[in-house]
Amino acid sequence: MKQEQIRNFSIIAHIDHGKSTLADRIMELTGTTNDREAKNQLLDDLAVEQSHGITVKSKTVQNLYKADNGNTYQYNLIDTPGHVDFSYEVSKSLAASEGALLLVDATQGIQAQTVANYRLAKQNHLTIIPVINKIDSTIADVPKVEQQIRNLDKEFTDMTILKISAKNGLGIHDVLEAIYQRIPAPCGEKQQPLKALIFDSLFDPFKGIIAYVRIYDGIITKHTTLMLMANEQHFSANELGVFTPSMVPVNELYPGEVGFIMTGLKEPHLVRIGDTLTNYSVPTNQPIQGYEPVQSMVFAGFYPKNNDYNKLKLAIEKLALNDSSFQFNLETSTALGPGFRCGFLGILHLQIIRERLEKEYGLEVLTTSPNVTYQVHVKGQQQQDVLVVNNPVNFPYFSLIEDVEEPYVQAEITTPNDSLGAIMKLAEKHKGIFQTMKNEADLVTLIYNMPLSEIAYDFFSHLKSASHGYATMNTVFIGYQLADVVKVEIHINYAKVDALSFVLHREDAQIMTQALVHKLKVTVPKKLYPMPVQAIIEGKVIARIDIPPLRKNAAVNGEQRSISKKQALLRRQSANKRLEAHSDVTLTQEVFNSILELD
Ligand code: GDP
Ligand code: MG
Repeated sequence: MKQEQIRNFSIIAHIDHGKSTLADRIMELTGTTNDREAKNQLLDDLAVEQSHGITVKSKTVQNLYKADNGNTYQYNLIDTPGHVDFSYEVSKSLAASEGALLLVDATQGIQAQTVANYRLAKQNHLTIIPVINKIDSTIADVPKVEQQIRNLDKEFTDMTILKISAKNGLGIHDVLEAIYQRIPAPCGEKQQPLKALIFDSLFDPFKGIIAYVRIYDGIITKHTTLMLMANEQHFSANELGVFTPSMVPVNELYPGEVGFIMTGLKEPHLVRIGDTLTNYSVPTNQPIQGYEPVQSMVFAGFYPKNNDYNKLKLAIEKLALNDSSFQFNLETSTALGPGFRCGFLGILHLQIIRERLEKEYGLEVLTTSPNVTYQVHVKGQQQQDVLVVNNPVNFPYFSLIEDVEEPYVQAEITTPNDSLGAIMKLAEKHKGIFQTMKNEADLVTLIYNMPLSEIAYDFFSHLKSASHGYATMNTVFIGYQLADVVKVEIHINYAKVDALSFVLHREDAQIMTQALVHKLKVTVPKKLYPMPVQAIIEGKVIARIDIPPLRKNAAVNGEQRSISKKQALLRRQSANKRLEAHSDVTLTQEVFNSILELD
């Protein structure tokens, strides 16, 4: 295929505006799939994606389109994930494209995610084709949505806006024609040294890591020795191919093409998404710019529920291979035994990984309350010697600490006008420092600088409820800033429960720990003896409550015993238990959620 006949594009849309349906129609009309296959919505095939209705991993499909002008074009449709927490993955897909179809539901109009995606596409300098979908619907308001699209960008005129029904196929031909007419062919020189972007990867137990690549310059031929620029790792391209959408081998990949390479490498950390792939003997001197490596922002412990440690380990390893933004290390907790400290992009990412462990591997996991990374300066150490703390258990004793810095993000929240007040109140409650705001269509975008810890817990669901589900949020890490934070230790029955330690802002400590002990009173499974719960900060008990004993079971054994005998039994049990206090607390998910749900 000649380079000028290649088009790389994505479809971007708010959730449920019809992205998958349009992708199916495109694959159907270009003969890529037959009808029955298309019904299965090929682009989202993971079980979790089906249940969340969102697409997690970027994928790509090559379609051949016979155009009205007599030429045949290669249309590489690069799928983008549909959720805000994954704007990183959206960027990845967009970096491999020259154009995007911006899809807007005619019954709903522009939504927060439409605006967020539009901005990402602009940042990536893509050609945007605006498309109004669902014009068949009786409640469609096409003129109103057209007006909204024109307001979004003055380059969108009535002439450029396409109107379709992805469901019944109306207008899809116009979309296919517009793609080659409006989106530029990829540039790039095949005589230049090889320069390719790794925009995704996948692990196959037999073939090793499969890299998804977009070629910028040069050619990849089978058995060429290739090199990853980040770590100078080299390997032979065992097999190359394209997705149609099944993997079809090819002999060569040319500039502008999107395909896969079987690297044969088995260690996931070697293949970094966003890295530049080049030729080992004739390397490029210019790696691809502006592509930031992903950083885990939120950490939590994952522990097996039913002694499934080895199974959990295998499953976590496999998931990490498949998702380079998910990281893990082994850790051991006195209360929970061996487990893993895992790093995520955000809370939704954590939930999706947990759900995949449950659905795809049948494993139940206990998740400790999430935390962010703290940079701690210890007294007497050089200022540049920072202690990076990803687990509250490792937070130094307070008298040793000089100061602590915590990560800050810039949060861009887009919401309908009528929830503006509620959203501003919420952001300020979570220590958001207002920066600016701007209006677009009926939406307003607010920019706040906030401590990441304030949104790492439950902020997202509060945002959704404050806006009746309509607000979206994108965050960008902006650096570490000084923080007045303290570590809270939870002691149950006079023994520290390490897995329940967490770090919070000092100003919130009094109220939050009071609320927490009240929650723990309900969530910690009762024993036959009373158990005091204490929240301790800097060596002082600042909140305390007693979990009442569970008396029923004791009574069962002693049917005919007198009251005093029963009490003696309880006292004895209590005394015994106190000696082995560290081992007797049963930690359930509800116990950890008590911290997560603090507000
Ligand atoms: P996605 O979340 O953007 O991938 O959206 P889907 O493609 O899954 O579509 C969401 C819902 O809208 C589904 O129930 C589709 O059947 C429906 N839908 C998609 N396109 C159209 C359309 O053109 N007309 C109508 N009436 N419904 C549509
Ligand atoms: Mg979809």
